[in-house]
Amino acid sequence: MDNNLEKDIQNVIAHLKNQGFVYQNSEIYGGLVNTWDYGPLAVAILNQIKSLWINEFIRKERNFLIDSKIIMNKSVWKASGHIDNFSDYLIENKINNKRYRADHIIKDLFPDLDIEKYTLEQLETIIKEKIKKYDGSETNWGNIRPFNLMFKTQMGAIDNATSETFLRPETAQGIFVNFKNLSRSSRAKLPFGIGQIGKSFRNEITPRDFIFRTREFEQMELEFFCEEKDSEHFYKYWINKAKDFVLMLGLKQENIRLREHSKEELSHYSKGTSDIEYLFPFGWGELLGIANRGQYDLEQHMKFSGESLEYLKEDGTKIIPYAIEPSIGLDRLLFALLIDAYVIEKLDNNDERIILKLDRKIAPYEIAVLPLMKKQSSEAKEIFNYLLANTNLRVTYDESGSIGKRYRRQDAIGTPYCITIDFDTTTNKIVTIRNRDTMKQETILISEIENYFRNK
Ligand code: ATP
Repeated sequence: MDNNLEKDIQNVIAHLKNQGFVYQNSEIYGGLVNTWDYGPLAVAILNQIKSLWINEFIRKERNFLIDSKIIMNKSVWKASGHIDNFSDYLIENKINNKRYRADHIIKDLFPDLDIEKYTLEQLETIIKEKIKKYDGSETNWGNIRPFNLMFKTQMGAIDNATSETFLRPETAQGIFVNFKNLSRSSRAKLPFGIGQIGKSFRNEITPRDFIFRTREFEQMELEFFCEEKDSEHFYKYWINKAKDFVLMLGLKQENIRLREHSKEELSHYSKGTSDIEYLFPFGWGELLGIANRGQYDLEQHMKFSGESLEYLKEDGTKIIPYAIEPSIGLDRLLFALLIDAYVIEKLDNNDERIILKLDRKIAPYEIAVLPLMKKQSSEAKEIFNYLLANTNLRVTYDESGSIGKRYRRQDAIGTPYCITIDFDTTTNKIVTIRNRDTMKQETILISEIENYFRNK
């Protein structure tokens, strides 16, 4: 990795920790490898993203939102193929006993090699013959072998093979197995979608890159069911919708790109998969994916459960719908939004300020209410409390430290506007609005505050 990039990302992470976006998980015990907890500011952003996703992917499209469980009947994972096929390829360096993902090693050292075109044996040969030093150590490579990524757990008091089950590695299967329940109870007509937001777990061989790849993460997934003849159309539709969504949240156009999977790369059931990638500090990486999964999942669950998951059309014929799946990882999206927004700006007086140029739609707070000095705090609190009680604006209040320091603090957490209450506000009823990005200030009447922010 480029040293500058490495430094940049370490600065961003340090900033996010200092400001209360992320904390190291179990920190007082020395942490847990590549596991992060979210503080109040990150939670506020995540809540905004989730509610915007629900608005765009569910409400406006008249789709349905469900909430299925993390632990499901083990047969689900047999049917979905996860028990047999959900593996990454692991290779061990026997000199330091470290384990790696074979594809990651190759991508790190030979970025131009199109690994999809090589067999496992060929990849193993490349690693064994060409990589004599890796990760600061001499090498003595073992053989490549598949490693299943599902987290095993046990349900109930008896610990045996029948109590063994898994934490879900994706939320999608909870949707497929509820297809019949939902289409019956809601009398939904094709095409329609079922979505859910929730935690997923993958025992990644090498979790890394901050919150890009972790073992516990959150997904927002939609399965959009339609007839085969419409599937190409909806596949494209949801690709565009997903792209518009991340742009709407504020990601810069030049930092995202669409990548369609080659034939070699497609999972055996997929009729087409496209990723939206983001230019992370370590290079382009998958932010989210859109797949045309065809009839695969419903067919598999019919086969394994013996239940019909067919859809009865108005003309009396039965079909198994196609499923188009836009799948978004919330943590990766949060990461992309935060680094995209992180700016260090040089000021005239040779000073600098750190700004998170987050879009107002996702900023933890839209407005900070600040008395110029403690003397104005009762007036300021009155305005703050009024906005809290009477509007949906996300507001915060701060009176500690100099006004300059407080502006910097709000810049650093991405608050687009500050309202400052000064000496004269009591008499003239005028406050100052400061813009985060331009630092320009304008004055308005207290009575105009609500309208001002409604019209922005
Ligand atoms: P990768 O190739 O990076 O492992 P994937 O292709 O296996 O990802 P999908 O199965 O398509 O990922 O999962 C859908 C989305 O869930 C991804 O686009 C990503 O945003 C998110 N995601 C998947 N695995 C992780 C993880 N370990 N940590 C954080 N987010 C993840």
